[in-house]
Amino acid sequence: MPSSANDELKQLIVDANKVVAFTGAGISTESGIPDFRSPGGIWTKYQPIDFRDFMASEEMRRESWRRKFATDETMRQATTNAGHRALARLHEDGKLTALITQNIDGLHQASGVPDDAVIELHGNSTYATCLDCSARHEIHWAKQVFGCDETIPICTACGGIVKTATISFGQSMPEEPMRRAQEATLDADLFIVLGSSLVVYPATGFPIMAKENGARLVIINREPTDQDSLADLVINAEIGATMGYVVGVN
Ligand code: NAD
Ligand code: ZN
Repeated sequence: MPSSANDELKQLIVDANKVVAFTGAGISTESGIPDFRSPGGIWTKYQPIDFRDFMASEEMRRESWRRKFATDETMRQATTNAGHRALARLHEDGKLTALITQNIDGLHQASGVPDDAVIELHGNSTYATCLDCSARHEIHWAKQVFGCDETIPICTACGGIVKTATISFGQSMPEEPMRRAQEATLDADLFIVLGSSLVVYPATGFPIMAKENGARLVIINREPTDQDSLADLVINAEIGATMGYVVGVN
């Protein structure tokens, strides 16, 4: 889809040495995973469960597992789209130094970006962990335990509360990914936001940090975001078609 904005992005990438991408749920909608805030998004159906409520209430934990299993099939069957593949190509070409994501679907890794280049700010929903001893538990195990009578899975090692390895509202941000994300942001000369509404902290902080540090800032999103006025380039279009054209993948 040639357009002057897309060609401008192409040139910004050519001119950059260290590109950092920041992705939100919008990069995975074309893979069939609904985002939160679009019409038909997850929040039109569910209120988010706050971490304190998850910890305090057995019924909230049960509801949280119910939702997980209701959406798990979609997540497991989803495959990468041109947006994911374009970023993987930029990494392969040595342009993309880091990919900071709010997503929990594992599709960046599935597209070939190595684990050490993907910084997951909100964890990963493809497995679960014990909140007491950190033991890893598989989703298929949790599903088996949950069964038909909705038994809440507890840690087989210590009896602790098991939760998908994601960061919920009210839960503190993981220190190591936050540190790596900051380091990558301050090292970038081009920072590209793809498919994030940029309303949830710390998402809102990284593009500002990049810009204040002298990087060029590009925002690709279907609709305007609160940070468009800060950006050097805003592209209001679908991510797959845009990045597919800009990077030359499909
Ligand atoms: P969000 O739902 O708040 O915003 C997504 C933005 O992407 C919206 O502004 C929407 O207009 C735009 N968008 C959607 N599809 C697009 C497309 N194809 N092309 C261009 N723009 C598109 O998402 P967020 O900012 O990432 O915040 C929500 C939180 O939801 C994240 O923290 C994440 O952990 C979680 N989440 C993750 C997934 C996933 O892993 N795929 C899915 C839903 C929610
Ligand atoms: Zn445990």
